[in-house]
Amino acid sequence: MTRIAFKPSRGDGTPRRARTPVRAGTRHRLFASTAVFVLLASGCAVSTQQEVELGQNYSAEINKQLKLMNDPEIVRYINLLGDSLTRLADDRSLNWTFYVVDSKEVNAFAVPGGFIYVNRGLIERTTRMSQLAGVLAHEIGHVTMRHSVKQMQTAQRANAGLTLACILTSVCESQVAGAAVQLGGGALFAKFSRDDEAEADRAGISFLVSARIDPRGIPEMFRILLNERASRPGGLDSWFSTHPLEEDRVKATEAEIARIPAAQLRGMSNDSERFQQFKRRVASS
Ligand SMILES: [Zn+2]
Repeated sequence: MTRIAFKPSRGDGTPRRARTPVRAGTRHRLFASTAVFVLLASGCAVSTQQEVELGQNYSAEINKQLKLMNDPEIVRYINLLGDSLTRLADDRSLNWTFYVVDSKEVNAFAVPGGFIYVNRGLIERTTRMSQLAGVLAHEIGHVTMRHSVKQMQTAQRANAGLTLACILTSVCESQVAGAAVQLGGGALFAKFSRDDEAEADRAGISFLVSARIDPRGIPEMFRILLNERASRPGGLDSWFSTHPLEEDRVKATEAEIARIPAAQLRGMSNDSERFQQFKRRVASS
């Protein structure tokens, strides 16, 4: 069986989005130490409210375990840059929060509900604003496309053999029919499929264009990372293990961008003094 039919979400007031069927069979390691999932015999789709509650819980847990950069100027800038993208990208009015993780490793990830994390190691490798904006736009794309939520539904279905699973929230508590199951393990949302990555790239490009930020920052960032891998094999293993990235993905983003009229691209911003100040601040903190 390769497809899951999603049940329509209940009337929680969230806008209905076109749902793409999720492929079953791919195995993903899920999930948070504190997130409790309840497998429902009746099955239920994950609403935006449930997604936000899950994200808040998980993000709170991450924030206890990871060292974040709390310098007010760093916090302010990353949220300013992120919000310039979400303002136009998000049609669910999520409450977005952007964090800089104090880790030299190159990484960035998104938690459902609107929590985006980017490591200082990645920021230190950027040379201009549009590259960091590209990373944020891509991660925002994972959230707006609900890739993790879909993975969760797929994985739980695969694990339990039930039609769909549901996060324990007040919304679906009343429908709880099965036993609570705690899915252990720390690596959540560890890996997206190539299709998800490509979809997040395309979404990211469109968010950047809407925000008048040069989308060429996305392939530029890819090339920075690919070049580093070539010159220092193994150095970026953690990034490449969770972000499938090969030449064809870079080419695909370049082809997507090539469809944008050159005159339009010329007017877009790709750097700012404020970004360079932010970068220096990160480097010296
Ligand atoms: Zn991704």
